[in-house]
Amino acid sequence: MASEQFNLSKLNIVDVHVHVGPEFGSRAHDALSLAQELASANMKAVMKNHFISTTGLASLARNITGQTSVFGSVVLNHGVGGVNVQAVRATLSGNKDEVRNAHEEVRGKEPTVVWMPTFHSKLHLETFGHDYLPEWVGGDTRFTSTSADVSPCEVVDESGNVLEEVQQVLELIASHDLVLATSHLSKDEITAVVRAAVAHGVRRIIITHPFFKVTDMSIQEQQTLVDLHRQLTGGEPEHQLYLEYTYTGKTIDGISFELYAEAINLIGPEHVILSSDAGQTRWPRDTQGQPLEGGVQALSVTECWKLFIQDLAQAGISEKAVVEMASTNPSRLLGII
Ligand SMILES: [Zn+2]
Repeated sequence: MASEQFNLSKLNIVDVHVHVGPEFGSRAHDALSLAQELASANMKAVMKNHFISTTGLASLARNITGQTSVFGSVVLNHGVGGVNVQAVRATLSGNKDEVRNAHEEVRGKEPTVVWMPTFHSKLHLETFGHDYLPEWVGGDTRFTSTSADVSPCEVVDESGNVLEEVQQVLELIASHDLVLATSHLSKDEITAVVRAAVAHGVRRIIITHPFFKVTDMSIQEQQTLVDLHRQLTGGEPEHQLYLEYTYTGKTIDGISFELYAEAINLIGPEHVILSSDAGQTRWPRDTQGQPLEGGVQALSVTECWKLFIQDLAQAGISEKAVVEMASTNPSRLLGII
């Protein structure tokens, strides 16, 4: 790719998935350092934390920087009581920049993402045996729970029906026009939740890194989900569902960008969002969780994007498609254009 493509500020990147600390493990950013770096590159991002809602942090960072470069989210793990309406209400409460004003419109003006359970999903605990992975905290087990210690945050019953508390959350997401992200659910759970979400009127959906080994959706299964969503919504443009392909899919999970390219060419870039999933540190790792020699340490979000764009070009993805997937689609999803 031409060198000007590494001028990130020209691309108007909107990243729906960046991790911020503090968390038990190390992170590359806190809310303020992320907001400052993004603003310097004309980028925006949704901040994710596995334990707490980030809307209040996002609000503070926006006020300090005077820039709207970060947005908040909540992950419905046990840290916020699992999948429950009150956690989403608390997240909405934090989504305001003028603390002296009372909300009439509870949503506030900035987009907010509600993530289904990540490390407390049933399949994550079954797959890894831990919630917070030991290698994220240098093997220190004081900061992890095993699958024997912690019960999963379930989203469906034994028959595969979406649970009542999940239905209530979906209803709240729909009524405030928030964004739903599927996190570490299984492919069957994702299908059930997407069906229920559409039935409740949820209009903005991200299928979180579907190639990730917990979810493990094939290209054909992803295409089937996109087709199902189109069928359920009649293809109305205000109903949006995107497949999210992350930079760390390669660096952490070893997914090749040739596979991304194959999926993008088959399904179409109009159904895909690129995100960094940045904020991770100590990767890539070997099977013992140790950093590989010469491995990258604590890449910042802009460093991730430079490598991501370079690698996508090598995999044959056009600049036009990159802009569509990294800027146009996420901007539309978040309602910021
Ligand atoms: Zn992530």
